[in-house]
Amino acid sequence: MKKVSAKKHLGQHFLNNQSIAENIVNQLEFKNKNILEIGPGMGILTQFLYKQEVNLQVIEIDKESVFYLRLNYPELKIIEGDFLKLNLQELYKNKISVIGNFPYNISSQILFKAFENRDKVTELVGMFQKEVAERVASVKGKKKGILSVLLQAFYDIEYCFTVEENVFTPPPKVKSGVIKLVRNKRKKLDCDEEKFIQIVKSGYNQRRKTLRNSLKPFTLKTNKEIEILLQKRAEQLDVEDFIIITKSVQ
Ligand code: SAH
Repeated sequence: MKKVSAKKHLGQHFLNNQSIAENIVNQLEFKNKNILEIGPGMGILTQFLYKQEVNLQVIEIDKESVFYLRLNYPELKIIEGDFLKLNLQELYKNKISVIGNFPYNISSQILFKAFENRDKVTELVGMFQKEVAERVASVKGKKKGILSVLLQAFYDIEYCFTVEENVFTPPPKVKSGVIKLVRNKRKKLDCDEEKFIQIVKSGYNQRRKTLRNSLKPFTLKTNKEIEILLQKRAEQLDVEDFIIITKSVQ
């Protein structure tokens, strides 16, 4: 059957290596019966999920891919649309596992959406640009970013493996990385969550500055411990440090 033609604006790079696809699916621990695949394209990952005893749904924005999937996987539950507009709370009563070789142009938005729905999305396995994958999984140092801290607060994150450019049609310009996020035991942060997000964002938006400077707009009740943290830059802090600072916001 005629293959789907790759469309750049939809971030389409089709994986063409079966064993890598199988390996990605195998990263799922199947913690939930509900599995949602984002952007299945021609179904290279889907084929390994399709026959399992799970409640599988896929969401695909591209009409041509949807047409292809309907022919090849007649029983597959396909939502034709934009994952970013999908209401997960309405769609699922129970928890879900999310998987995908994601479109790289919306990878941060996909991760933010998982974060926002963290009580539904308890497992996520996905392929991203290598740089994004490394940043999300990175616990220390320059690679860390806002998303790393926010996600690491609620998920255990593992960098699984790197995928080379030449296993995609067409090949992307950069390498890819597969990561796995599993919801941790933390129900809530031990501080005001909105403030926590604001503090992390402010710290990272001026990441070269010390926190004393980047957090100027906030009034903090400081003590010795906080003074030491304020001399550092955002990337030097972990989740617990940010919680300590957030608690000191007046
Ligand atoms: N998983 C397939 C395709 C990866 S390319 C493979 O590994 O070969 C990314 C896929 O995401 C494409 O099929 C693209 O059409 C789809 N996509 C892009 N933006 C999307 C969105 N907002 N919502 C759902 N799917 C999207």
